[in-house]
Amino acid sequence: MDDYKPYEDYFDGSHGISELLKSNHYDNLWPESVDGKWKVHDIKEYQRLEIVGPADYYCRIKYDMKSESYQSEKLYCSCEKPYNPDLKMIQCERCYEWYHINCIGMTEGEVESTGDYICDPCRNIETTKHNNLVTTS
Ligand SMILES: [Zn+2]
Ligand SMILES: [Zn+2]
Repeated sequence: MDDYKPYEDYFDGSHGISELLKSNHYDNLWPESVDGKWKVHDIKEYQRLEIVGPADYYCRIKYDMKSESYQSEKLYCSCEKPYNPDLKMIQCERCYEWYHINCIGMTEGEVESTGDYICDPCRNIETTKHNNLVTTS
């Protein structure tokens, strides 16, 4: 897939300098070739930044390699709704997806006292892995 250039054909030059596409396409990189960590914000968060540093990026479009389609409206949470600033959300430490705290049955107080949040799908993956280890050993 050497001719994979989503930026050029989709945006026609209209994408932001600091914009990244989120995709399910993965590359293997040598650790030596990674020279730092980028902070990828969602678009609302990015717009709220007072100082935008060289490592600050945002993402508003998702590219699906399998269907070769773009999903421009990011959907959040298990309820799959677009971003709504009125609803408080929490980010999963594993998959970095955002969840409405009332959809996962948490209160604001609980969110503040909880350190790392891990969502149900991620927890299920871990349980499955664990069960596989147990049953195959
Ligand atoms: Zn929700
Ligand atoms: Zn997760």
